Amino acid sequence: MVDPFPGVPYSFGALRKTFGPLWVRCDSCRRYARLFLRELRDVDYRTKTFSCSICGSDGAMALEEPCKDTGMEDYRLDQRVDPQHHPAAVKRLTDPRQLRPIRYAGGELPGRKIDGRR
Ligand SMILES: [Zn+2]
Repeated sequence: MVDPFPGVPYSFGALRKTFGPLWVRCDSCRRYARLFLRELRDVDYRTKTFSCSICGSDGAMALEEPCKDTGMEDYRLDQRVDPQHHPAAVKRLTDPRQLRPIRYAGGELPGRKIDGRR
């Protein structure tokens, strides 16, 4: 018998409780960082996107440490203190003409991309 999760459904806290540590990765830089929840704990994870503070491209949330995933062994942990949004990412994410709906189909987490080059 498992105790019901006392937190907010679909929150980062619920994911953390279910899957353990959460990660955010950049497929361009092939780097990742541990996602520390702090004020995100009770936030619906489906409402958030991530971007890379180094190159500004989309970040992807990962439930497993990326370097342990097949084909991603070269991803390196690159935890930054107080990372800032890349200007290109801010522009992309705040420009209303570029807002696109998040697709929930397929069971993949938002931001996860299938990269055909791999
Ligand atoms: Zn990057």
